[in-house]
Amino acid sequence: MTLSNASNALKKYFGYDAFRPLQAEIIEAVYNKRDALVLMPTGGGKSICYQIPAITLEGVAVVVSPLIALMKDQVEGLSATGIPAAFINSTLTSEQTRNVENALMAGYVKLLYVSPEKLVSQNFQPLLKRLKISLFAVDEAHCISAWGHDFRPEYTQLRFLKEQFPDVPILALTATADKLTRKDIIGQLQLPDPAIFIASFDRPNIKLTVRPGQRRLEQIIEFLKQHPQQSGIIYCLARRTCEELADKLNARGFKAAHYHAEVPPTQRSKTQEDFINDRTPIICATIAFGMGIDKSNVRFVIHYNMPRNLEGYYQEVGRSGRDGLPADALLFFSYQDVMVYRDMIEQGEADDTQKELKTAKLNRMYQFAEAPVCRRKTVLFYFGETYDRNCGNCDVCLNPPRQFDGTIAAQKALSAIMRTKESVGMNMLVDILRGSQRREIFEHKYNEIKTYGAGKEYTFDDWLYLISQMLHIGLVEIAYDEHNCLKVTDEGKKVLFDGKKVSLAMPQPKVKSKPGEKLPVMPEKSKSQMLKEELFGRLVALRRSLAQEQGVPPYLIFSDATLDDMADKRPFTDADLLQVSGVGERKLQLFGDAFIGEVRRFVLEKTEEGNRITGSTQLISFNLFQKGHLVEEIAEMRSISTLAVAGHLATMYERGETLDISQWVSPEERDIIQGALPMFAEPFAMKEIFEHFGGRFNYDKIRFAIADYKRHRG
Ligand code: ADP
Ligand code: ZN
Repeated sequence: MTLSNASNALKKYFGYDAFRPLQAEIIEAVYNKRDALVLMPTGGGKSICYQIPAITLEGVAVVVSPLIALMKDQVEGLSATGIPAAFINSTLTSEQTRNVENALMAGYVKLLYVSPEKLVSQNFQPLLKRLKISLFAVDEAHCISAWGHDFRPEYTQLRFLKEQFPDVPILALTATADKLTRKDIIGQLQLPDPAIFIASFDRPNIKLTVRPGQRRLEQIIEFLKQHPQQSGIIYCLARRTCEELADKLNARGFKAAHYHAEVPPTQRSKTQEDFINDRTPIICATIAFGMGIDKSNVRFVIHYNMPRNLEGYYQEVGRSGRDGLPADALLFFSYQDVMVYRDMIEQGEADDTQKELKTAKLNRMYQFAEAPVCRRKTVLFYFGETYDRNCGNCDVCLNPPRQFDGTIAAQKALSAIMRTKESVGMNMLVDILRGSQRREIFEHKYNEIKTYGAGKEYTFDDWLYLISQMLHIGLVEIAYDEHNCLKVTDEGKKVLFDGKKVSLAMPQPKVKSKPGEKLPVMPEKSKSQMLKEELFGRLVALRRSLAQEQGVPPYLIFSDATLDDMADKRPFTDADLLQVSGVGERKLQLFGDAFIGEVRRFVLEKTEEGNRITGSTQLISFNLFQKGHLVEEIAEMRSISTLAVAGHLATMYERGETLDISQWVSPEERDIIQGALPMFAEPFAMKEIFEHFGGRFNYDKIRFAIADYKRHRG
């Protein structure tokens, strides 16, 4: 088997023109019967790495996956591209299982998805032994490791694969694995000399944004207004928050549902289905949601609460934009969340090393949120990648904070902390600085200290922002064991007593629309961009109605990325459509006519609209011709004869439009025809001229020769 077989299969079944980084190398390793460990981010394209060998090699590929809920979707997706696939897990009846087994024995199945329990079970072994197995793919391979965050004990029994099938290559794939887990995967699966492939974890299409967590609801509503009709997930820490947020969003006219572990299973799977099928665009969920979801057009992930570590953050964020189109990740950051996690770790962890580990991870998480450094750089660095530029697609890169001399601001805060004998938390400190009238202030006589009301020049949120930076650069620290009071560090004392200068990032002015005040205007979209979006919308609608008709989820027909490319390329023929990324032979057969028809109708409508002013039927044909459509296509679109279309084009040429007429009449033929024209009376009768030459020149030739004659006569 060679890579050109692989490329052909990629095009034929999936409609893709090229492999993504590392896919080809991984496939080649499998062809060479080499075991391999593959680390690729979510959405990186892991499935192709075993699906292409499965299709091209003899026998059946066995895919082990712990995500039972996903198997059915994966198998349906493959079937829709014409690849015979099946799954066996506990959700099948014994009759269904038998049917699959029969199909396997008959050699019909190229890809078999199976749960680890089933694979290792005794009654499955005889069947396994009788199959011709091309490869084993162990998906979510980090589940094998007790070091990973998602340990599945059944996975540890997979060591029997190498023992029993020493000649079958094993491909272990995962989106999250640190060094320790990596080593564990290789050891547990007993891979003697695996090739190791580590793809970049960068997901450049996802815009990373961090915002202070004040007035989150308003900020979310603002965001949703700017992203109408888009699918997304809002992750919340508490179940109650999920429910309340969904209610509030619904009350504001958005369509949202909630999802968490306490929702009854039937409702949970309905919510999930509705999300996958684009019926409910917004899900407010705990992190229980998303693991088993393979939806490629999730356009945003919002973290209502901060995740507890960067692994979780990046994994959740990675659920957006798997189709490669632009996506948004919006994280709300608040100290409240940090405190909550601290308490959880403190109370929930008996083991000291685990406690330390979790605390360290939490610290890295909030440093990420606070540091005014390119977010992508920070997060990729955390995962061990060097990324030595600024990404240009995160809030810091897009809107770099301006630094200012923050010494005086810092001194005010530090002084207030000292004067309260380091006994207040962050919110109280800000209230003191801003001269709040809160009852507690008077109870503790904080209104009598010198810095009371000394910081009115900043808003509450601005102060939180400044103080968090002071924390970050080590001027203050939080005493977690003393009700989260703020303490001044030695570094802070230098600023307070020795006047050491500090540079801080300036709080960003809030964009708020007061009546009469102008909102920042969005850059106007170009006409062609608007047309493209309109066509995209029509294609999405067509996809929805086809999906409904056939009772399948829309993404099984085409992904958003495919429709996006289609709206760009505007295919008019089968050959055009095959050029669209994501259209393979099977999908062309099933859906080609419908989508080509829609594109044609759209283009025709738009061309007619554009020409309505002149009302010229000739101009319509001419414009379509200029856009690259063949005479036959134009005739079909407009339901007129090809002769009529050629006539339109000839007329436009006669009127002085640029057109290469040599495809109808060669210069020699033209000269001969034109030589005879003076013999005829005008207006020229085509039939007479046709007969004059005894049928030697067809009507098209005569028509264009005449048009050229008139054009040059003026
Ligand atoms: P993962 O399993 O790594 O999360 P997937 O295998 O689901 O990622 O792939 C993510 C998306 O990228 C899918 O929509 C898939 O069809 C698409 N994809 C994979 N490989 C290619 C490729 N070579 N060219 C274009 N799209 C691809
Ligand atoms: Zn950046």
